[in-house]
Amino acid sequence: MSELTDLYQEVILDHHRHPRNFKALPDADRQALGHNPLCGDQLIVFVKLAGDVIVDVAFQGQGCAISRASASMMTAAVKGLPRAQADALFEKFHQLVTGQKELGHPEIELGKLAAFGGVCEFPVRVKCASLPWHTLRAALESTAKPISTE
Ligand code: ZN
Repeated sequence: MSELTDLYQEVILDHHRHPRNFKALPDADRQALGHNPLCGDQLIVFVKLAGDVIVDVAFQGQGCAISRASASMMTAAVKGLPRAQADALFEKFHQLVTGQKELGHPEIELGKLAAFGGVCEFPVRVKCASLPWHTLRAALESTAKPISTE
């Protein structure tokens, strides 16, 4: 099991060092600002929609390794998905990082996002990992006000 944990940490480190979709999206339809005051993470999530499908998504901002890696992996995971599927993925991810529910096979339900399973043991980090997802949801709902985890 520790080997698997190392692999997961490697995935998180890789996305931290080389974040995917780390850019502004000039033709975005929606965007939202997220802020986690506990850690100082701040990011903007950009979304381009075609009907109900997230055809492009990107982020900018600064934060800790967990928030940055989570934002990077979130954009990679939801690009191309219909909103309903992105929402469902967020629900599962949230359950994983908060440890609310034991997912039978998180790696099957969540793919690489299962790497964040260890986060539930560190309550402060849960907000770092979930901030990009909360911000994505806010962008999809076009909430004008900044999102805060507090
Ligand atoms: Zn953080």
